[in-house]
Amino acid sequence: MGLGRRQVLGAFASAGLGSAFAPRDAAASGGDIQCDVCIVGGGAAGTYAALALRDRGLRVVVVERSDRLGGHCETYRDPTSGAAIDIGVIVFPDNPLVRAHFGRFGVPLSNASFAGPASQFVDFRTGQGVAAFQPTPLELGTALATYLQVLEIRYPFLEQNGFQLPEPGPILDELLLPFGQWVSQLGLEALLPTFFLYEQGFGSLLDATTLYVLKNMSRAVVGAVLQGSFLMAPGGAGALYDAASVELGADVLYQSEICHVERGNGVCLRVRSAGAERTIRAARLLFTAPPVLPSFAGFDLDGRERALFASFQRHHYWTAVAQIAGMPPGVSLVNVAPDTPFNLAPLPGIYSIGPNAAPGLFDVKYGSEHFLPDLQVKRRIAADIARVASDQVSGLELTGFAIFKNHSPYSVVVAPERIRDGFYSSLQALQGYRQTYYAGAAFQTHSSAAVWAHVEELLPALLA
Ligand SMILES: Cc1cc2nc3c(=O)[nH]c(=O)nc-3n(C[C@H](O)[C@H](O)[C@H](O)COP(=O)(O)OP(=O)(O)OC[C@H]3O[C@@H](n4cnc5c(N)ncnc54)[C@H](O)[C@@H]3O)c2cc1C
Repeated sequence: MGLGRRQVLGAFASAGLGSAFAPRDAAASGGDIQCDVCIVGGGAAGTYAALALRDRGLRVVVVERSDRLGGHCETYRDPTSGAAIDIGVIVFPDNPLVRAHFGRFGVPLSNASFAGPASQFVDFRTGQGVAAFQPTPLELGTALATYLQVLEIRYPFLEQNGFQLPEPGPILDELLLPFGQWVSQLGLEALLPTFFLYEQGFGSLLDATTLYVLKNMSRAVVGAVLQGSFLMAPGGAGALYDAASVELGADVLYQSEICHVERGNGVCLRVRSAGAERTIRAARLLFTAPPVLPSFAGFDLDGRERALFASFQRHHYWTAVAQIAGMPPGVSLVNVAPDTPFNLAPLPGIYSIGPNAAPGLFDVKYGSEHFLPDLQVKRRIAADIARVASDQVSGLELTGFAIFKNHSPYSVVVAPERIRDGFYSSLQALQGYRQTYYAGAAFQTHSSAAVWAHVEELLPALLA
């Protein structure tokens, strides 16, 4: 009696041989899909994992909600000038992993230059040009150097992948302080304006739990700031994901919605993709979407998983490329508030508006600590821009958005008391529980290179 193709694949899977031998057209053919690892989310973590696992002979399928790979990394190409404008990820620390990932696809990297126009400070609530707390370059340089020493001496464990935290005690207590309190205890207030611009999408910087700020402003990131050694892709960072998309081919199911997930002896997912329902059977699941409860719709979460994912609070972040009539070329407007500590702009609000590579187009960044509908954010941005009436800039009008992108939920965090109660040990203990592994910014921090390093560390478990 001859075995059918599906039975052969099933026999390989149940013999623990994996489906490295499975034909690569399974996802394209419309039938059930058998794979070693099903990856939910094709952003930084999911795409990196898919490539790395395929390189090692495993059969993967990526289930991606949108019509493209890259997640927060996306390049807008201006049809008029041809300019490539990164509306998400722009810079990467210079390390072998970053060079190898771009190098594999021949996507060129060059040194990022931050030389640009001097910022003009505007209170977007009133439109007035105002003075802002601005440390001198010497004060900032000294604060950054001290900050690096503090990271190295007091918190070296933050360099490890994931959240490997100390037991409750003085060190953990320091990390659970609001960041504003932490900087003033160390006399590092000079960091604030710079960190405010890097920590977009993290909510109020002064109230943010110090752990999250320090994990994000890592030694690699601050070292790159000090040395001016960040890399960027001159043709747009999105080229990395365009190339990955070609390589992964039919192993990515785009515009897909997960309807049902059952985990027991292996993982079975029902997915609605391109108007059809597909069944995916995998030995393991790698979850890389933001781990907030709505992302798990249709999953068979148990009480332990649900309690952990329900603890995450979300921050919201939007970026846009806008046409703004009356905006002088080469001008950058930074939102500040004369009546707040260190003049940090309150949220919701614009972070900054600045020029990009396309004449007549401007980058706009907007943040909020609570949910806002996109239409409301667009209206608020337009009203804020129309209000600007500083000595040098006035009479602006937002005439349209070339692209508008909602990055929410962006930073997902838990309350300090949950961290003190061992939240991250419990989260870490979920790795492998019910054949499910996790990667992405919530399990590391919002940095592509750091996310890739975390995936590298997970590979042995996924390959075992
Ligand atoms: C504006 C902006 C600028 C940034 N700049 C930099 C920078 O310069 N340098 C840097 O290193 N980092 C930067 N970051 C941070 C960096 O982008 C993130 O750390 C990184 O993208 C996180 O990777 P991830 O895989 O966790 O999430 P993402 O890359 O967002 O990937 C998640 C993927 O999951 C998909 N998804 C979500 N829900 C589901 C679901 N239910 N089912 C299926 N798929 C789903 C999403 O569509 C997305 O493709 C920036 C982020 C933003 C928003």
